Amino acid sequence: MPPRPHFLVLTFPFQGHIAPALRLARRLLAAAPDALVTFSTTEVAHRRMFPATKPDGGATTDEDAGRLEFLPFSDGTEAGYVARSTTTDPNAFNAYMASFHAAGARSVARVLDALAGRGRSVSRVVYSLLLPWAADVARDRGIPSALYWIQPVAVFAIYYHYFHGHAAVVHEHRHDPSFLVELPGLAPQAVADLPSFLTASTEPSDPLHSAFTTLRDLFETLDKERPGATVLVNTCQELERGALAAVGAHDVLPVGPVLPSASGEEEAGIYKPDDDAKYMEWLDAKPAGSVVYVAFGSLAGMAREQLEELLLGLEGTGRPYLCVIRKDVRAALSNEAGAGVDQALALKNGVAVEWCDQVKVLSHAAVGCFVTHCGWNSVLESVATGVPMVCVPRMSDQRMNAQLVVREWRVGVRAQVDGTGGVLRAEDLKRCVDEVMGDSEAAAEVRRMAGEWKRAVAEAMGKGGSSGRSLMAFVDGA
Ligand code: UDP
Ligand code: UDP
Repeated sequence: MPPRPHFLVLTFPFQGHIAPALRLARRLLAAAPDALVTFSTTEVAHRRMFPATKPDGGATTDEDAGRLEFLPFSDGTEAGYVARSTTTDPNAFNAYMASFHAAGARSVARVLDALAGRGRSVSRVVYSLLLPWAADVARDRGIPSALYWIQPVAVFAIYYHYFHGHAAVVHEHRHDPSFLVELPGLAPQAVADLPSFLTASTEPSDPLHSAFTTLRDLFETLDKERPGATVLVNTCQELERGALAAVGAHDVLPVGPVLPSASGEEEAGIYKPDDDAKYMEWLDAKPAGSVVYVAFGSLAGMAREQLEELLLGLEGTGRPYLCVIRKDVRAALSNEAGAGVDQALALKNGVAVEWCDQVKVLSHAAVGCFVTHCGWNSVLESVATGVPMVCVPRMSDQRMNAQLVVREWRVGVRAQVDGTGGVLRAEDLKRCVDEVMGDSEAAAEVRRMAGEWKRAVAEAMGKGGSSGRSLMAFVDGA
């Protein structure tokens, strides 16, 4: 009997990386009934996911009759990295990354040995985008690997071409936001909309330099794969047909958008939804399509001025709203203002929560629009649930993601915010919300398109759909 396929799924300890990696892990188990999956992130993130785990981080959790196992790897630090607002402490990330790569590589090598020692040899390593060394560790042992790209294919294609002959033109024009960069197979892109790490971080002094060098290392290691690297992408053909034709030498397989499994089991992550989930009852009492949901992901910070404008704008819409203001954001605001944020949070028409189950919220019939920072997970969750978006992109891939939402799929509008620190004004927020929730023909059209895309995405992920077929092709090759 051939050995059972065994996937080691490795991910960086950000919530926005853990969630899609875990969702992919569950898809792999569903697609290959005899497969095993070991899911691995750093010890600190692992302990946040499973608070009952012993402090040594060595404990594992078995699920699904032992087919899914959680086993942490060491990042070489005691405290690990807990993502707080990158805007309030940009250098913490660089400092962490300086030792993360070498420590992670050593530890994952030991994880592979330990699994082999227990008769659970790994047949495929699947690693998310900030772990380029994972491909090298796998290659050293003769284990095939696949990159799991958790941003759009369009963004993968931009990085690919940047690192294959187009760095100079981007660098030369990096201070000219409206300059149009021409990359093979892609529509011309304004410098301002390129992934921010490409235009901000070629200098070692830049706070996000390590993100840039990690991505550079990633594209270097992909080029070492023969005949080409396998790249699973959390997207589907229907959403990104154009970009898929522009990705160059690698074998790119769209397998998304991955969502929490339909069985509705609680999804582990480094954040926990508010226990009493009062916001769901609050939503239950609201008419269909009436609520504005506002959340900017797990990393973005917020200045006090922005919070005040945001709440002013939301009150100005006259619509009920549910707004996520994370605990760390609240804490930072309190420090900055020298006083609590509670007076700013004197909400009339809405409720604020520190964290929620976002997919559940977006799936609720009462939610009529999502004001989002356009993290790729948030964008996909919104498209998959048919909720139109107001885009407030800031950094990384978010501006490209907003372009897909507004120009390609036409399921949202983009707010006017300048640069990373620019403030979204109350009037503009109100304008945007009206443009997707109001009575105009244009707003009705945005809502109609959101419904169309919801159906298209469900088809892609359904039995025999395009993403299901890509995943099967990958599993069959394992
Ligand atoms: N999220 C959530 N509850 C919240 C806010 C965010 O569950 O209150 C989840 C969201 O569903 C998504 C992830 O956190 O899966 C954020 O990932 P994304 O790529 O959107 O942004 P990032 O946090 O990486 O900036
Ligand atoms: N939180 C966050 N980023 C993190 C960890 C936590 O924004 O990386 C927020 C989030 O809202 C979470 C809440 O802090 O639900 C509580 O987390 P925890 O109590 O573990 O953090 P601490 O008490 O150490 O601040």
